[in-house]
Amino acid sequence: MAFTGDFHTHSVYSHGKGSVEDNVLAAREKGLKAVVISDHGVCVYPNNIHPADINNYLLDIKRCREKYKDITVLSGVEANLLSNDGDIDLPEEAEDFLDWINVGFHAIRIPDKAKSFFSFWLPNVTFSPNKTARMARNTEAYIKAMQRYRVSAVAHPLRQISLDLKALGEAAKDLGVYIEINSKSCVLERHDFETLCRTGCEFVCSSDAHSPDQVGDFSALRRFDGAGLDRKLIANWDRLPNIRHYKKGRREL
Ligand SMILES: [Zn+2]
Ligand SMILES: [Zn+2]
Repeated sequence: MAFTGDFHTHSVYSHGKGSVEDNVLAAREKGLKAVVISDHGVCVYPNNIHPADINNYLLDIKRCREKYKDITVLSGVEANLLSNDGDIDLPEEAEDFLDWINVGFHAIRIPDKAKSFFSFWLPNVTFSPNKTARMARNTEAYIKAMQRYRVSAVAHPLRQISLDLKALGEAAKDLGVYIEINSKSCVLERHDFETLCRTGCEFVCSSDAHSPDQVGDFSALRRFDGAGLDRKLIANWDRLPNIRHYKKGRREL
């Protein structure tokens, strides 16, 4: 029994240290069957995939897929959640070429639209006083993103953002989205895992590697195990998660 793949790794296309190929080679060395290259966003913003680079990004991934037949190399992105309406920084034309979409909130990524800046970003980074309302809005934002885009996983839930994990887990289960257990920044506590598990959602454990040596780091498993839960709930433990899966309410290709 082992992890089969790493579904969240960064390369030099955002702010990772290695090339796409470096990450693939590292994943092969760890004996993984699959690896997702998921650089940040697609936008003109530091540490994100520049829109002018997206074709080369996809081409690099395609070349590795053809060169290394013993591992499934998947094209992905870690898009930024940007508004209460579930906007993410992913052009529609890019979405159709991606196998895997992680969506995360990053305080460093300031929304382009003034409305999103004031109604979404600012209340989160300043920890506005009405936490209950903020939590409900953030959860709704994630649910809208999951409905509007082919989201594969919610990246590092609760990191820099408050969420109603019960509502999030229920929507994730309903829409076929995985909840990430992120080895770089997992802030989920035992009771959070218990809340999520009660909703019936499934998890994916990823490294969030920013350098090739971190690819295949599944150390956050400790936190999941600490909650005494069944590893069968983790979709990349001894099996592979569904890739490009669609459920009701989601936009089809
Ligand atoms: Zn992230
Ligand atoms: Zn990341």
